[in-house]
Amino acid sequence: MRIARFVVDSDPLYGVVEGEPGSEEITVINGDPFFHGVERTHVKHKLEDVRLLAPIIPRSKVIGVGRNFAEHAAELGNEVPQQPLLFLKPNTSVIGPGDPIVLPEFSDEVSFEAELCVVIGRICKDVPEDRVDEVIFGYTCGNDLTARDVQKTDLQWARAKGFDTSAPLGPWIETELDTEDLAIKGWLNGELRQDGSTSQMIRGVREIVSIVSQAFTLLPGDVIMTGTPAGVDLVTAGDRYDVEIEGIGRLSNPVVRR
Ligand code: MG
Repeated sequence: MRIARFVVDSDPLYGVVEGEPGSEEITVINGDPFFHGVERTHVKHKLEDVRLLAPIIPRSKVIGVGRNFAEHAAELGNEVPQQPLLFLKPNTSVIGPGDPIVLPEFSDEVSFEAELCVVIGRICKDVPEDRVDEVIFGYTCGNDLTARDVQKTDLQWARAKGFDTSAPLGPWIETELDTEDLAIKGWLNGELRQDGSTSQMIRGVREIVSIVSQAFTLLPGDVIMTGTPAGVDLVTAGDRYDVEIEGIGRLSNPVVRR
């Protein structure tokens, strides 16, 4: 099931997206599916008539996993970490489909990173790998934008990974997905630049969620970005970057500098 957050007139709503590509409809659901389940109303809209928002604004955090693909670690001259390399992106970094990525003043080297994102469905801590499925609400596409120059010079990655607009998410949350071998693709201005698979992850989804939950209590709506495949490069104002993950859909954002 595909759960989207959107606006038609004013207030954001949640809905279920169904139908063939190009002619999808969205059925409004009552309340917040993270707390009330999915209760459909009789109100429907054409997908093309609504504006999709980030499918979730995490109430507490986005957690990133660094260097989870060997080829990507190597392309930037890094070793694969022995211990999981975790970092946080604040919820103010999250934007939705079509929202502009605003390049920060303090960086001249902002890079795209196409990633599968896990959306947590219930409060949890110290989750064993064989119970991870119980705490996952679903999956969405994400772009873990990174100010590469500041990542090298700052001791912490807070600015490099956490600036406003550095976490586009969407277009919706797919609640049923086998994540063992999904294509992760990224297009810069329509040109394929990242072409990997979740099967190349050093640590898979279940292991990552379990590891993250050992450090942090996870809350409904928290998001875990699971790492990017090789092919990362810089964006400049006027670019557009698309992240597509097999079984989910495509997230597209323009890049601007203000
Ligand atoms: Mg990343």
